[in-house]
Amino acid sequence: MRIEFFGVRGSFPSADRCESRYGAATPCARIESAAGDAVILDAGTGLRMLGTRMAKKAPTEAPLRATILFTHFHLDHVFGLPFFDPLFLPRAEITFISWLDPEEMHEILGRLMKAPLFPVAFDETPCRKTFLRIGPEGATIGGMRVQRAQLRHPQGCMAYRFEDGKRSAVFATDTEHPEEGIDNRLAELARKASLFVYDAMYTPEEYAQGRKGWGHSTWEQGVELARAARVERLFLSHLNPEHDDRTIGRMRKAAKIRFRPTECAAAGLVVKL
Ligand SMILES: [Zn+2]
Ligand SMILES: [Zn+2]
Repeated sequence: MRIEFFGVRGSFPSADRCESRYGAATPCARIESAAGDAVILDAGTGLRMLGTRMAKKAPTEAPLRATILFTHFHLDHVFGLPFFDPLFLPRAEITFISWLDPEEMHEILGRLMKAPLFPVAFDETPCRKTFLRIGPEGATIGGMRVQRAQLRHPQGCMAYRFEDGKRSAVFATDTEHPEEGIDNRLAELARKASLFVYDAMYTPEEYAQGRKGWGHSTWEQGVELARAARVERLFLSHLNPEHDDRTIGRMRKAAKIRFRPTECAAAGLVVKL
């Protein structure tokens, strides 16, 4: 498996973070199986760069296939879609998957790309579109077994586990930990995962000072879950656009003391499993 991060910031892409080693773009990752099939997770602003690369790379005659799986539909996870080059190519075939009914997802994406918010209507873009739902039983996507677990987040958010042979990657992009203990559903999904991506939007201090109920978590809770689920590696993600590199570096250091294989996700980072 090969994971490539294109955006790891939460909430909004901040111009203040263009020089940051973690980047400024909002969530988007590409997960590739050993056989070379791929799934794009979320359509945050990081998707733009991936789309440009896909449109450039593919031979001009061949169909260009893409699969986008959504965790949820908050703006930071969809705002790259109107700027995704393959959307505007007649030879592109794009499959959109989420845990919502396909018609509902179609309608939401239509709302995102509609005048006066965007000049080109979603349904008028020339690519071929398919809409699918991933149910509680999971699915095979991009040649990988994908399982899901509902997270604690306003309007809902889904965590996904991708499995390819013995390797596995679990993404919990937006989630708030419970008042007491850990989220057992998520710990179960993440059990012994090769890679675990977790929402580290706040420092524990920030969380305690007025961020409860906002739907996000801390590096400390990520460490708790990583240890309970016995994952191999923890990647802190959904990084706060208000946090500079020094603040994120301090979070990473503090997390590493309690769980050594902790890293921070970063735009441009490639992880091979
Ligand atoms: Zn988010
Ligand atoms: Zn969200």
